[in-house]
Amino acid sequence: MEWLLTPGPVRLHPKALEALARPQLHHRTEPARELFLRARSLLQAAFATQGEVLILTGSGTLAMEALVLNLFAPGERVLVPVYGKFSERFAEIAESAGLRVDRLELPYGQVPTPERVARPGYRGLLLVHSETSTGALVDLPALAQAFKGENPEGLVGADMVTSLLVSPVALEAWGVDGAVSGSQKGLMCPPGLGLVALAPRALEGLRPRGYYLDLARELRAQREGESAWTPAINLVGAVAAVLEEVLPRLEDHLALKAWQNALLYRVGEELGLRAVPVTQSPAVAAFYLPEGVPYRAVKEAFAQRGAVIAGGQGPLRGRIFRLSLMGSYDRYEALGVAALFREALGDILLPS
Ligand SMILES: *Cc1c(COP(=O)(O)O)cnc(C)c1O
Repeated sequence: MEWLLTPGPVRLHPKALEALARPQLHHRTEPARELFLRARSLLQAAFATQGEVLILTGSGTLAMEALVLNLFAPGERVLVPVYGKFSERFAEIAESAGLRVDRLELPYGQVPTPERVARPGYRGLLLVHSETSTGALVDLPALAQAFKGENPEGLVGADMVTSLLVSPVALEAWGVDGAVSGSQKGLMCPPGLGLVALAPRALEGLRPRGYYLDLARELRAQREGESAWTPAINLVGAVAAVLEEVLPRLEDHLALKAWQNALLYRVGEELGLRAVPVTQSPAVAAFYLPEGVPYRAVKEAFAQRGAVIAGGQGPLRGRIFRLSLMGSYDRYEALGVAALFREALGDILLPS
């Protein structure tokens, strides 16, 4: 078995594995409806919303597109700070949905400040909470508040793909109206589900568009424990099983994730590596490659020890490497990974 140190997909939670070993349920039967409703209510608690969570079959990007299509009408103006590959994707999705997009371009690794988004004249603000491509975490509540100070009618949409179950999140309490995530990151399940959380304000102003992505139709079906089309019900079972295990001890879980990621940064610092982000997300640790060392060499040093890591994306391709313990790792396994990290980089920095 390989050690997945990638920021998604991640090492699966044992409860997910167990759930996935069960016989197939038919989605239009009572046990499936019960499971679907249970998963939705657990997700509602995880996103901290009084609104609704829709479970879609697809990856996180599908959920991003569903959110943008159903929250905004063509021609509406949205502000999209771009500070990594996923915020870049949010801007591209908004453009392809026919919105008038103002990009706020920042160097990768930086984060937008509240002053930068306090600009009037917008229907929406789209933000990536944990920018997995750089390892940065933005101050979502402060940004939402600054934006709404200038746009009281505006809606804030957030990508919480690598913050849900990794870092604290909340919708209404933070002024976030819509948020998305996926099954293969903090939820420690296989890829295949896109999640869309809608706060009451977003539900009121829903402007359904698309066919498969028509969220008004989904909402009608999902309130009854079904979905409009065949759902990946096995994955829904895995997500419910993980949430049932983790939510009652969420604080401890988030503290563990934070400690594990800080451990990776501590080792990196000891090795003389420079961190990429200005503010660190607990989902992933991103480091610039040591002078003159190609990414391939670092990847290979980890691979020799049975571990899979991630490189850079976009302008950071070939310049950084990334390690993540977002998956199902306990404290002792994390210490083992830290030792492996030291050893792998030691081979490169101090060849014998
Ligand atoms: C992984 C990820 C996504 C979704 O990617 P998919 O490959 O479509 O699941 C979106 N945003 C962030 C921040 C991510 O880390």
